[in-house]
Amino acid sequence: VSAVEAKLATLEGAEEALLFASGMAAVTTVLLSLLSSGTHLVITDDAYRRTRQFCLNFLKRFAIEATVVPMGDYAGLEAAIRPTTRLIVSESPTNPYLRVLDLPRLADIGRRHQVKTLIDSTFGTPINQRPLNQGIDLVIHSATKYLGGHNDLLAGVVCGNGALMAHLRQQLWMLGAVCDPHNAFLLGRGLKTLALRVNRQNENGLRVA
Ligand SMILES: *Cc1c(COP(=O)(O)O)cnc(C)c1O
Repeated sequence: VSAVEAKLATLEGAEEALLFASGMAAVTTVLLSLLSSGTHLVITDDAYRRTRQFCLNFLKRFAIEATVVPMGDYAGLEAAIRPTTRLIVSESPTNPYLRVLDLPRLADIGRRHQVKTLIDSTFGTPINQRPLNQGIDLVIHSATKYLGGHNDLLAGVVCGNGALMAHLRQQLWMLGAVCDPHNAFLLGRGLKTLALRVNRQNENGLRVA
């Protein structure tokens, strides 16, 4: 597990990476760890359905509020920030509509308001985009998709700075959605062909377009 976490950290240009049992385990553990009762988050509208359900329905039970803003409406996003806002969450590119955010612009909004930014980069892969290099605080992947690559594993990963990841690691070990070692082995195998697969998919996609 540690060996694969180190590879993923290198791929994303992160200080550390943390593996989870699934993409949703990564999303829910991070949000439960960073938000407390009375806080607020902003999420863009074109998000993975279960992530949106978790933010809008489940977190409400803990008095954590969420505001949904249209993808790409940067003024609306900034206007939605409150004194209690702790996190801005978005996918980019989105599943399923492939909408893309201006990541440096999002990072700048977060920095100016002292709100952490989180990007679900599952559809981008670190071959096509590295959000941390553009100023984003946290990157999440469902490793079940491109990173695993063989459609035979479930995993999630979160990448970020050392202090934040140390905190999340303790929360992960408490909440328990850890990645098992054999699963990590399969993911490590998948990563060996990540660049080959994604670059070929890029070429094929361009030809079709
Ligand atoms: C699939 C997916 C998830 C959930 O991942 P699982 O590994 O299936 O739990 C989260 N975000 C995005 C963008 C996804 O495509």
